[in-house]
Amino acid sequence: MTRIFAIANQKGGVGKTTTSINLASSLASIDKRVLLVDLDPQGNTTMGSGVDKRLLDRTVYQILLGEQVAAEVRLSTKPGKYDLLPANQELAGAEVEMVALEQRESRLKKALQVIQADYDFILIDCPPALNLLTLNGLCAAHAVIIPMQCEYYALEGLSDLVNTIKRVRTGFNPAIRIEGLLRTMFDPRNLLAQQVSDQLKQHFGDKVYRTIIPRNIRLAEAPGFGLPVLYHDKQSRGAQAYLELANEILATAN
Ligand code: ATP
Ligand code: MG
Repeated sequence: MTRIFAIANQKGGVGKTTTSINLASSLASIDKRVLLVDLDPQGNTTMGSGVDKRLLDRTVYQILLGEQVAAEVRLSTKPGKYDLLPANQELAGAEVEMVALEQRESRLKKALQVIQADYDFILIDCPPALNLLTLNGLCAAHAVIIPMQCEYYALEGLSDLVNTIKRVRTGFNPAIRIEGLLRTMFDPRNLLAQQVSDQLKQHFGDKVYRTIIPRNIRLAEAPGFGLPVLYHDKQSRGAQAYLELANEILATAN
């Protein structure tokens, strides 16, 4: 069965896109069929997958507005070995234009239903906001992966996200759950990071992934080359951490 994960956190810059690209390519490297959906007008997932967002004539925007079907928009990325539904700045307009449409929060879900059997995993990179785009991501998903930096306000922000997930569960998607919380950009020498990490484990128990993503310069460099880190520096700690995360996710049977 296809597993669909939204990668979400309304806080900016916590590693959603880095996780989306590198989890997608790690799963693909162990022979899983993966579709990555860029649901952010910033188009960072698109660029980081080696696709020039400025040259696209079909994107997620047309899918959400019902002007294109997903099968016509998806691209295969090389060397990432996963498929991509790309996005660019145009997607910002969908926020406004979708408001007038029927079932505006479940348009991505509908669009993915037609192609989901082609994949083992679909990952949806959400924008840093609890807006209609993120809502579409949460409605389409079976579960949410929450990347977070272990810093002072991280837990506070989490409660807003958890409340949003609860509202989505009541209103639109009764089955949605938290798949896991991922500690990103982790620096073990930082005492505060350790403390926040401990609090996180107290609150969320085994929902916190055992895998920790370290702060690693290779992860930050790779998008500049349009490459997942696995194809930029496979031996780097960042690449190895995302492979470990892929294996941890594969080991959980559901
Ligand atoms: P946004 O909210 O803007 O969409 P995001 O949550 O998707 O941001 P990223 O774009 O993945 O976050 O990461 C923010 C910045 O931090 C980027 O410059 C990225 O390259 C860098 N970064 C992410 N993870 C790591 C890491 N583990 N080590 C070092 N740099 C990282
Ligand atoms: Mg992002």
